[in-house]
Amino acid sequence: MMFKHLKQISLPVDVRVYRGAIEHVKKIARKYDINFAVLLTGAKTDKVAGRKVQKLMECRTKKFIVRNASRQVAKKIEEEIGAGLGDADAVIGVGGGKVLDVAKVVAFHSNAPLISIPTNAAHDGIASPLASFKERGKPISIKVGSPVSIIADLEIIKDSPVRLLRSGYGDLISNVVEVKDWMLGVEKRDEDYDEIVASISTMPAMLLLKSSRELNFQNTSSLRLLVRGLILSGLAINMYGSSRPVSGSAHKFSHALDYLGYGDGTHGEQVGIGTIIMEYMHQQCYGEGDWEILKNSLEKILAPTTAKEINLNKKMMLEALMYSKTIRPHRYTIIEDQDPQKKDFEICLEKTGVAK
Ligand SMILES: [Zn+2]
Repeated sequence: MMFKHLKQISLPVDVRVYRGAIEHVKKIARKYDINFAVLLTGAKTDKVAGRKVQKLMECRTKKFIVRNASRQVAKKIEEEIGAGLGDADAVIGVGGGKVLDVAKVVAFHSNAPLISIPTNAAHDGIASPLASFKERGKPISIKVGSPVSIIADLEIIKDSPVRLLRSGYGDLISNVVEVKDWMLGVEKRDEDYDEIVASISTMPAMLLLKSSRELNFQNTSSLRLLVRGLILSGLAINMYGSSRPVSGSAHKFSHALDYLGYGDGTHGEQVGIGTIIMEYMHQQCYGEGDWEILKNSLEKILAPTTAKEINLNKKMMLEALMYSKTIRPHRYTIIEDQDPQKKDFEICLEKTGVAK
């Protein structure tokens, strides 16, 4: 019998996570015969790494400075590449989430391999096949391709704003609760499931949670755990074909804040707070998990654990939590499972100390 049910997936072929990894792009250019590369970078990240990458590539490059991320910006670059620049052998994104999101779209539409060179580790977008934009104030996420290569130079990422690294931690540990949501979908809605993907999603998060007392993102070993975890989260999305393994109720709450335009938290900060709330609900309803461990770990790394810290009050929190019921209602989570009312959320905010 043929193994016709085996899943075929494309994995990144060249992933590097260490100090000085950026030097590896030199080899990549030779290894993959890159004669012409389109380089996307940010105004700041160009100075931090963009120029260096351009120099190391030793091939013809065309550089674009990405100032805001949108599909229009990507389209403009695509048009310019199409207009006489010739086919690119690779698209290289050097920067943070915004730059990488635009680079993903450009690479996908130009049918060119993407080399992702993140300069921070604020969320799992560094390796995921999804690009997120804000259009007319509303968040959108589109499926593109995964990077062929990810070069995460820990020396460069170490110097990124620590707030972003703490955000990456929040995004990563949310996987613990997001997979619990997935399991609910499996049990109650007979949803598809993949244990390997669930393990890839949650194991690094569990490891970080266990060692949160000793974590210091200025240390290479801590930073490596974080970056590896985020890369594996992106891989989980890639393997499963959707964000299901890394995005459930905590992300719904974060998206609700984005839609409402409330507060000033980063994606990972919002998701981190959402994780405390949703873990509390899972624990209350099914006796599984420990919201205090999650909250303590976020406190230990100095990430926000209260609404106030990201400029939200209790009223806004309750509105966002109620609004989260309208986000992706087909994705079954503790929110759909319990259909909590305002009063329930109020108790949860009080008990967890997220908003008084
Ligand atoms: Zn996320």
